[in-house]
Amino acid sequence: MNATLTTCPYCGTGCNFYLQSDVNGRLSGVEPAGKHPTSRGQLCIKGWNAHAFVDHPDRLTAPQLRRNGQLQITDWNSALDLLHDKLSGIAAQYGPDSLMFLSSAKVSNEENYLLMKLARAGYGTNNIDHCARLCHSSTVTGLVETLGSGAMTNSLSCFDETGLIFVIGSNTTEQHPLIGSRILNAVQRGARLIVADSRKIRLARHADLHLRQQNGSDVALLNGMMRQILQDGQEDTEFISQRTENFAALRQGVEKFTPEYVAQITGLPPEQIVSAARLFAQARRAMIVYAMGITQHSHGVDNVRAISNLALLTGNLGRPGTGVNPLRGQNNVQGACDMGALPDVYTGYQRVADPAARQKFSTAWGVQLPETPGLMATHAIEAAAAGQVRGMLILGENPMLSEANQGLVRKALERLDFLAVIDIFPTETTDLAELILPAACYAEKDGTFTSTERRVQRGRKALESPGAARPDWQILCALLQRCGLPAEYADPAEIMTETATLTPSYGGISYPRLEGMGLQWPCPDAEHPGTPILHREQFTRGKGRFSPVDYRPSAELPDADYPFLLNTGRTYFHWHTGSMTRRSHLLDREERQAFVEIHPADAKKHRIKERQQVKISSRRGTIAAAAQLTDRVPAGQVFIPFHFAEGAANALTNNALDPESGIPEFKVCAVRIEPC
Ligand code: SF4
Repeated sequence: MNATLTTCPYCGTGCNFYLQSDVNGRLSGVEPAGKHPTSRGQLCIKGWNAHAFVDHPDRLTAPQLRRNGQLQITDWNSALDLLHDKLSGIAAQYGPDSLMFLSSAKVSNEENYLLMKLARAGYGTNNIDHCARLCHSSTVTGLVETLGSGAMTNSLSCFDETGLIFVIGSNTTEQHPLIGSRILNAVQRGARLIVADSRKIRLARHADLHLRQQNGSDVALLNGMMRQILQDGQEDTEFISQRTENFAALRQGVEKFTPEYVAQITGLPPEQIVSAARLFAQARRAMIVYAMGITQHSHGVDNVRAISNLALLTGNLGRPGTGVNPLRGQNNVQGACDMGALPDVYTGYQRVADPAARQKFSTAWGVQLPETPGLMATHAIEAAAAGQVRGMLILGENPMLSEANQGLVRKALERLDFLAVIDIFPTETTDLAELILPAACYAEKDGTFTSTERRVQRGRKALESPGAARPDWQILCALLQRCGLPAEYADPAEIMTETATLTPSYGGISYPRLEGMGLQWPCPDAEHPGTPILHREQFTRGKGRFSPVDYRPSAELPDADYPFLLNTGRTYFHWHTGSMTRRSHLLDREERQAFVEIHPADAKKHRIKERQQVKISSRRGTIAAAAQLTDRVPAGQVFIPFHFAEGAANALTNNALDPESGIPEFKVCAVRIEPC
């Protein structure tokens, strides 16, 4: 029996475990890493089953080319030649910006680095993005503006020393289970807990205060809390005067958000808003925790700004047990952003529009680089549907299930002249691809992943890939070489060495230094110990900036034709588009089919019974799912997880985008329900 220490392939918590393999090289199980600072000898159900999908018979094992509607197996050289010929041919005919590259928060830092290098240096376009566009692009925009860095400010260990945790828009025990446990441990130790969520999530049972505000009304709630804190004189005046700017604008901006006005917007009793403000302000150390309940709105960046304002107002930054703590979804969504798999930045958020940064990368890679920031993933879908993007390479993503408004995504992908997908399993997106390349999964390759607390850590190869499947980094090196760029990396460690030389925040990261517990960036040089807490002495941007925001309603609210508000999200047993968890026997057994949560009073009104199939329709599509009658959702709201292709929540969701971050409004749209 062999045991290989590696990083969990699911959520951004970043647990480590040992993959156990038998003498035949088959995975037999998982054992948590007892000494790891996050895992601490525990895993959630997904972590315990992270070996289960690896040898599933559906694994892609050979390159496949679609001819006359039929997939035919081909060899790697022919497949890579064809891929390069198609992409370079489209770029030559229609210009490099007619191409789009979609990277992945599931692949390693090194692979994200190589794909963004391929897009920019190989094919001459900044049209590179990944699924952070759909989860935390609002965080990056909002926090860079207010604090100077778009990442979680503190560490997971801070839960052990905080006095209060304010969880807003995060179903933490289901989406980041080990962080959820840490919050529950903190409550048991005596920390206070405020939960703001329209659903009765598990954390709400343990909260001092559960605020069930209307989806999409977070700005009003947060502004109302800040106004009350100012009314009570509970702001941190010393912190505000020494470490922040633009405070007068904040004071003016929140002035109209009286408890009564906020109550009208949020549906909360005015006294709850006052209580939340007082509870929060009285804590000497308070952590704000949020996730996609905050970010996935057409005003997601404003939500993030409001959270940042609240932390600045109360001096809850730069100290242990405080901070603005966005919980990153997939295991490498932080790293994919850090690696510049974004249309406007290179690695370490160095801007492509900055001539000095462009010159630096241009010199390192030996080519001229494009100056104009590229398309966001969501805009690229619109551009493809309009015939402006003509060729697309997708690495390890399944936009047919993960993007909003599935009908539009299908139209966009079907209109492309050429679509290639690199993945480990067939998906709803590979179904539309002309070329499918089989990839190694996390257990079959080396690489690094960056967790939600900015911890860069190793993933290690435990077994060989099936058939002809290859690690993504090798596939990308072969393409770089076809573009005439040197890419003779012996292994991912050499790719990280190149990345570190170009990325100040990763300057001290190297494979030997990551043995053990990894390192938290910024880690600028080989002697630096890493940074558990950001903004200690000063903010990354110098002073923290108050950025006042006004309340804007969601783009599409319930009306007479579509009377229910649709909320979407994840469940404990499944992950993202289900390509891995639905192929894990135990996880699939626990939750087999698409469902919709409906309040019992609404169900009664519409004559819907428990487990009955119901039809759910929005202005964009119709799906069917099994009814779950529960008061977890408030009356007037339904909740559908987006893991299930046969009842795809994103056939219904609205692709109304935040104007700054381009994130779709996954958390609010209008639907109607009826028995099938
Ligand atoms: Fe994996 Fe996240 Fe579960 Fe940890 S909490 S075992 S990282 S899915």
